[in-house]
Amino acid sequence: MEDYQNIQVPGRALYTNARQLLDLVYTKGVNTCMLFLAALKQVLPEAHGATIPFSECCSNLEKKQEPQTTFTQTLLAQRPSLVSQLQDCTDDALDALLASGHFTPAEYDEVQLPIHTPSQKARRLLDHVRSKGEVAAEILLQYIQQKQTSGSPVNKEKWNTPKEFFKYQKKLSSSLAAQSCFLSTYGGTSNMSLEDIYTEGHLELPHDCIGVHGSLGLEDIIGVAGTVNEEADTILVSGEAGSGKSTLLQRLHLLWAQGAAFQDFLLLFPFSCRRLNSEQRELSVKDLLFQHCCWPDREQDEIFQFILDHPHLILFTFDGLDELKQSFSDEHRLCCPTQCAPVPILLFNLLQGCLMKGVQKIVTSRPEAVGPALKKHLRKEVLLKGFSQAGIGCFVRKHHSDPTVAAKVLESLQTNTALLGLCHSPVLCWIVSQCHKELLGCGDGSPQTITDVYLMILRHFLQHKSPVKNSIGFGWIKEHLDTVLHLGQLAFEGIRTSCYIFSDTEMNACGVTEKDISTGFLTQSTGLSSVHAKMYEFLHVTMQCFFAALYTVLSTNTDHYIIPKLFESHVMKEMNMNSTCFGICLPSVEQQQQVSEREAMAVEITNLQMTATFLSGLLSQRHRSLWLNCCPRATVEKKVKEVVRCLSKSLRKHFRSIPKPVDGEKKSMHAMPDFVWLVKCIYEMQESSIAKDAMSKLDVNHLKLTYCNIGPVECTALTFVLQHLKNPVGLQLDYNSVGDVGVEQLLPCMPICYSLYLRNNNITDEGISKLIAKVIQCDNFQKIALFNNMLTDACTQHFSQLLKTKQNFISLRLGNNNITAEGAKQLAQGLKVNHSLQYLGLWGNKIGDVGAEALANALESSKTLVWLSLVCNGVGNAGACALANIIKNSTSLEELWLTDNCITKTGAECLIQALEHNTHVKSVWLKNNNLSVEEVEEMAQREPRLIL
Ligand code: ADP
Repeated sequence: MEDYQNIQVPGRALYTNARQLLDLVYTKGVNTCMLFLAALKQVLPEAHGATIPFSECCSNLEKKQEPQTTFTQTLLAQRPSLVSQLQDCTDDALDALLASGHFTPAEYDEVQLPIHTPSQKARRLLDHVRSKGEVAAEILLQYIQQKQTSGSPVNKEKWNTPKEFFKYQKKLSSSLAAQSCFLSTYGGTSNMSLEDIYTEGHLELPHDCIGVHGSLGLEDIIGVAGTVNEEADTILVSGEAGSGKSTLLQRLHLLWAQGAAFQDFLLLFPFSCRRLNSEQRELSVKDLLFQHCCWPDREQDEIFQFILDHPHLILFTFDGLDELKQSFSDEHRLCCPTQCAPVPILLFNLLQGCLMKGVQKIVTSRPEAVGPALKKHLRKEVLLKGFSQAGIGCFVRKHHSDPTVAAKVLESLQTNTALLGLCHSPVLCWIVSQCHKELLGCGDGSPQTITDVYLMILRHFLQHKSPVKNSIGFGWIKEHLDTVLHLGQLAFEGIRTSCYIFSDTEMNACGVTEKDISTGFLTQSTGLSSVHAKMYEFLHVTMQCFFAALYTVLSTNTDHYIIPKLFESHVMKEMNMNSTCFGICLPSVEQQQQVSEREAMAVEITNLQMTATFLSGLLSQRHRSLWLNCCPRATVEKKVKEVVRCLSKSLRKHFRSIPKPVDGEKKSMHAMPDFVWLVKCIYEMQESSIAKDAMSKLDVNHLKLTYCNIGPVECTALTFVLQHLKNPVGLQLDYNSVGDVGVEQLLPCMPICYSLYLRNNNITDEGISKLIAKVIQCDNFQKIALFNNMLTDACTQHFSQLLKTKQNFISLRLGNNNITAEGAKQLAQGLKVNHSLQYLGLWGNKIGDVGAEALANALESSKTLVWLSLVCNGVGNAGACALANIIKNSTSLEELWLTDNCITKTGAECLIQALEHNTHVKSVWLKNNNLSVEEVEEMAQREPRLIL
């Protein structure tokens, strides 16, 4: 599936997909090649097939197709488990293959490239071995077997385990397998096997992590890559609501329980913070493990002692730290594993490592809820970004067994990129797949906003249960008004009090009936101890926020402060105290006093903000008719006015906080976290007048939105608002997850941008081709920075076109991409005829001498170029001598950066000679080239502008 996703990248040129497919099939060895040819023979029209000599290979295939398992097939079949076993010992496995002559030193080095994570290394190793055929595969499998029998951590005999240990391990793993093998949807009435539907999410390390880039595998979560604190044991997986954190842990649990991965851990204890909220007793660690996860039938003390003695063989997972009623605090220290304490205190001490030091702990949370107090105890952080473009396709195909339906859904997503952007969030991708009939039937009214998508599933679920006669028009909510109000109140009270699991008492208080439950929005809460009678939770926390927003719109009981309070989320704390319905959910008064105001706020704000976002969407003009059927027009209109007023007020407050510019500098706004949220609310309202009004009050030259977690959805919202800016701005979106879909969403606001910074944003040539086609027509557009994306030579023709067409273009920065001499030659064609470019940055590409010569040739007579960087590009003497010509002729060049290349004395001499004729150039950087200490000294004396 991983291979499939890598090839089937939607939107990429078909010939690129085809080439990648051929390359991949080739690396998989003879058998795969033959299978591929046989498949090709079946699908190609006869006329095409005639040109390919199938007969020979296919007859070979027939001969070979005996039903015995080959070693290469074993490598394929057991890939996840082999990756996990190999990742700690790729060096030794490679040594074995090198010694047997199956690997060359170059192949050895390629697998061991330091940019790869351990699991990536293991995967590359497996791919190579498969391409080498049976003998190599046999050697590798033998090596792994030997490693197992000679005492790897997996070898259970090595540990002095209590007699009952393996029974307990079996009990724990069977209960974990049973709990994790299904994803519950439709309120548990239709379960989907995790195995069938699981799609790899996009996992990455934070942008400030040096060394490793790109997507991580599940096994890398516990690997060394990205470690920031060796002493700490806690790994944080952070991601937005619905990005798939719980599902990822579920997958991890299942793989462990099936013995397919994470086998270095003998025991795995899973916890849900949502469930831990209901634990009112004081517990010890031992109680926590045995009562909340799995009870050992015998030898409890011995098993617990084993756990204490071998912490490195144990893994704990904690899902949804953001849902714990108390935020992390390291004030109460507890070190004794048998001492009882309130559960949050136990949990915080486990995460800090005061308790059970050495046990690895994986904790998931929404990013907003992780403050500095917890951050300092983290071993590392991994970001879960939802589905990649390919992941969306993969999920939809898995969701629909009928490939024609899947293809239709995907096709309709391609035509609605706003919706495609939303589908990067797995929970939305699931809704869209679930509601495919509505999606495909709605033509022009296809959903655009997150509220549209949730309204689609609301209608889908309600009508799935009891189809209404009046399904056309706006009457459908009215038909189900009671249900919506009951569930809405439950959700609303829950959000006010951070309550996510509901007992009979709470359900009765809100009038929730069996019929309401049967609509499928609530699911029975599993995993709670039997003292609790049936407990329910919403299918997903985002669904709870949606219902809370519905309640705010439809209820006539809510007090009139509710809307302003939602938009000033911090005020909600007071509402907690006044809660009427759910006294039962609140911690006792004493406990509440222990929780500082600040701590409680962090937990609630994200849900309140999401509720406010849905509220904006529900009150948008396009959905207003739905409510007019159920409530008096005046009430609805009053609520609309209130939301509009709150949004404008919050934005004004935001703009007022922008500092005055320092003299001579541009006025710049660095967005506060709430800015993006407010912009998203305006987008949900789909009300251009609010956007226009807001932007008329924003007076800045530069908008900085770096590290703001901006993905395609945020880009859609930003564009909706920013396109109304009065004056052109520099838009800085560095270090986000914009991607190609996000770039496409940004296009409508390009006319008001004079510069665009998209460093580190997973952008490929596809995105660039669309971006350039647009900005070429934008008079204001003058600068672009694309450092550290996924660009190759295929994008350079577009930049060349840009340079040819736009004679006011000033700055092009393409550092740390994958541009070679070919790309440089393409750029040179544009540079030759451009008369405006001042800054050209190609740091960290691979243009070599040939590329440098092409650029030098094109720039020789430039009268505008001020700054050129070819740092770390494999440039040697030929390139240096060619570049010397720019120095000789240029009247504008001030800095030339050639650090980290392979220039020797000959090349440096050329540059010195050229400098003799030039007084404008301020510095030529030549650090880290092939010059001896003596040469460096001598040249520095002769030419002080050379920085050596
Ligand atoms: P989070 O814990 O981040 O809020 P969840 O794991 O609960 O998100 O995901 C919400 C829904 O999205 C799941 O119920 C499931 O339908 C879908 N989903 C999430 N991740 C995946 C995945 N990796 N593969 C398939 N479906 C997923």
